[in-house]
Amino acid sequence: MESLFVYILSLILGAMVGSFLNVCIYRIPENVSLWWPPSTCPKCKTRIKFYDNIPVLSYLILRGKCRNCKAGISAQYPLIEATTSLLTLFVVYKLGLTYWTAITLLVTYSLIVLSMIDFRLYIIPDRFSIGLTVLGLVVFFINPAFSGNLTAKFLQCLTGGAVGFFGLWGMAIIGSLLFKKEAMGGGDIKLIAAVGTLTGVSGVISTLIIASFLGLVYYAVLFILKKNPQNKTIPFGPFISIGLFINILFPNNLLLLY
Ligand SMILES: [Zn+2]
Repeated sequence: MESLFVYILSLILGAMVGSFLNVCIYRIPENVSLWWPPSTCPKCKTRIKFYDNIPVLSYLILRGKCRNCKAGISAQYPLIEATTSLLTLFVVYKLGLTYWTAITLLVTYSLIVLSMIDFRLYIIPDRFSIGLTVLGLVVFFINPAFSGNLTAKFLQCLTGGAVGFFGLWGMAIIGSLLFKKEAMGGGDIKLIAAVGTLTGVSGVISTLIIASFLGLVYYAVLFILKKNPQNKTIPFGPFISIGLFINILFPNNLLLLY
């Protein structure tokens, strides 16, 4: 247990990071600098004042409207800020203040951005999927998912990445032969490689079970609500992300179930 101060600070810093993640979600796919220009209202182009840019609170105070032109502000902004804030608190609560907490937060923030980009545009930028795979390979020695000596830990990390990547690649090829339709994109496969280097083989299996289940539920809901008339492929990145988040916080949960 950390002190109440640490938890409150986690909520506040998390909300501020969330505000930055909103910028990332919109600017990374457009290849616009994250630092310049400062945020403006998309409608009237007025620069947003610092006091109107307080995470969550500003949206509530302004009742979701631009101070200048009263154009509606997307509810996505406060939702991402609140989600990031709560997830930061949860990670710090679960893991305490350790180096692994910092890594887990970095992974969590990356997953939020890549999920939103995949959800909007059906792409997972390589900087996230490949970036997280490399991160897993670099920090394997402090990863609580792996056990034994350094060599053993590194092998578990490497095996996880390889099984994730080649396993999914094989399944994607079989799937496209069977259904004559691309079931899983290259971005998803690279993201599963990251799941492997961060959570090992059991994490890959557990993540795939969680992601498939959530994907099916989502698909069923869209079907019932008739929200997917063209029967489009659904983005899988957000569901893989939820699976990875659960597995990084609860490593080897498949073994625990056993
Ligand atoms: Zn405006």
